[in-house]
Amino acid sequence: MRHVLTTACPLDCPDTCSLAVTVDDGRIVGVDADTSPTANPFTQGFICQKVKHHAKRVYAPERVLTPLIRTGPKGSGQFRTASWDEAEMMTAARLGAAIAEHGVRSVVPYLYSSSGGVLANALTPMLFERLGCPDVEHTICASTVGAAWHQVFGSMLSADPNDLDHAGLIVVWGANPQASNSHLVPLLTAATKRGAQLVVIDPRRTAVSARADLHLAIRPGTDVVLAYAAARWLRHHGHVATEFLAAHTSGSDAFLDAAEEWTIERAAEVCGVPAVDIEAFATMLVTDAPALMRLGYGLERNRNGGAGCVGALGLWLVAGHFGRRGSGVIGSTSGGAPLDNDALWPQGIQRQARVTMNMNDVGLALNGELDGWPQTSVLFVQGANPAVTAMDQAMMLRGLASNAVFTVVHEQVMTDTAMYADVILPATTHFEVADLARSYGSFSLLAVDPVIGRVGESRSNDEVASGLARALGFAAQEFDPDPSRLLALMRTDGSSDSLPLRRAPGATVQFIDTRPGFGDGSTRARLLDPASEMPLPRFRPVPVSGSPTGLTLLTPATSRTINSMFAEFGPPNAVVSMSPSDAAARGVVDGDRVRVFNDLGELVVQASVDGSVRAGVVSIPKGLWRRHFDNAFTANVLIPREINDLGAGACFNDAIVDIEKSTLTDRS
Ligand code: SF4
Repeated sequence: MRHVLTTACPLDCPDTCSLAVTVDDGRIVGVDADTSPTANPFTQGFICQKVKHHAKRVYAPERVLTPLIRTGPKGSGQFRTASWDEAEMMTAARLGAAIAEHGVRSVVPYLYSSSGGVLANALTPMLFERLGCPDVEHTICASTVGAAWHQVFGSMLSADPNDLDHAGLIVVWGANPQASNSHLVPLLTAATKRGAQLVVIDPRRTAVSARADLHLAIRPGTDVVLAYAAARWLRHHGHVATEFLAAHTSGSDAFLDAAEEWTIERAAEVCGVPAVDIEAFATMLVTDAPALMRLGYGLERNRNGGAGCVGALGLWLVAGHFGRRGSGVIGSTSGGAPLDNDALWPQGIQRQARVTMNMNDVGLALNGELDGWPQTSVLFVQGANPAVTAMDQAMMLRGLASNAVFTVVHEQVMTDTAMYADVILPATTHFEVADLARSYGSFSLLAVDPVIGRVGESRSNDEVASGLARALGFAAQEFDPDPSRLLALMRTDGSSDSLPLRRAPGATVQFIDTRPGFGDGSTRARLLDPASEMPLPRFRPVPVSGSPTGLTLLTPATSRTINSMFAEFGPPNAVVSMSPSDAAARGVVDGDRVRVFNDLGELVVQASVDGSVRAGVVSIPKGLWRRHFDNAFTANVLIPREINDLGAGACFNDAIVDIEKSTLTDRS
């Protein structure tokens, strides 16, 4: 029988759409937007093409349907089926033996599950904490933006994206909403039709930048210079928000003094954009208030990532764009949800201080090359595909292939990482289990309801943690995976109200409804933080090393994938986009096969001379799988294992490459 059921999308996308899923005889036959009155209004009646075709992943030929145990060499893809009992006992035994023989630091829990809901991240982290294993920090994405926000604003909430409708100036800085926040686009369109000015700061030409009033295509890593130059211009033209700074901030003099070295002309030289454009930007900050900034994640992915983020936030404070509807900074809205993961921790059990590992160091640890750490004995991967998402991919693949490492992968489909597993555990999709979707792009918390039965023998993250916990001797009731129990523990508002929870329109004006908040009781935003690893934003020259003709490689998200998810059936084009001048300098024309290379590795791909990137910058889409390239590497093979200046974030955009015409022919 055919019927339509509603649920929510918890994938790693800010939008958190309400979904209407058509199910026929227990099988998904269609996914679309829920347009009922209870739907998340941010959905606006449409969803992305990826999720419209999500059933292809649910019923994919690559779907893992039973536990699997490796029978051939690592990476060969040779497995036999196994029972859950056998796979669970084998995993628990290897975890126990590794801890007993080599210590807790020989176990690496690589847990991400950013495309699962709130409950998908409940019990597995707790299990590994109870075991005393390292906390592998999520430093590959959003770590630096989060650290910058925390440094400047503390616990202050994001501005409400719906307030774009009240803005006179909108600045989209380091974000491409068309690709990864598509429901912001209609709001931008409505605002600009109403007369709001739009500024986009992005080294690439995107669908949104193409219709901006001003597009500042700065060199990657120079955001802090732009922020300082605009702040200095405001100071020298008498437009600093002096009263606001005195009432609500600390450290503004130090910030403005640090900005003094960045004249418009010098900034133009470093950022690689005309001085007149930087001056126009600074002028718009004065003339087009209220001004609302969408701070994206593109700023953080380079050595100056923290400086860029803190610099942009500092500029907004200096300009005083807060305190009225249509002003402020849109960051992650997830802080508005009344949830507390710590409440899951069983009463009466003392929490121990944990050792942390930077996720960007896992490749080294797998190879036994991470200073101060033992050779990894067990790698447990859940909701992640590091074979194609980690930096220095060759190092990661060597580690995954190491026979010294026993690898367990809990996954929905046979990913490039799962191919290297010793044990694969079949994972549910969000259509098969109850969960919660906490939006980070709108203030909403939605119920994720199962719409079909389990596909194969799949189990949720919490069920896997529960089974392993039992096998390792923990009390069953502490790891009871019942979603309603977990939710009751985590809700901090004491409410049993049904979902969705939302904040009322106009009720999240920064410095009115929500204010900076810090552990020491301070409520002043901080333009200077003496206790930080980066007290003031500081520009470090961006890398152009290795070759005088070096090109900065960007690996941006596209609308085709969520990280590497969906690339198995709908990948973006595996091409390298180049500017006409960089192509001409290398004798490359559109459609040529080219070799993209640096000291770490190489790829052979087709060149797209499409004007989508500024000179000196090239881009290859994020999310592709090894099968999409001739030599079974992806763009990540070119990305250095560097971390940035705040929050130890990954420097995906600090890859310097060169390009030459390839003599190899297309394998297809
Ligand atoms: S991935 Fe994003 S845009 Fe697509 S359905 Fe989910 S929340 Fe909506």
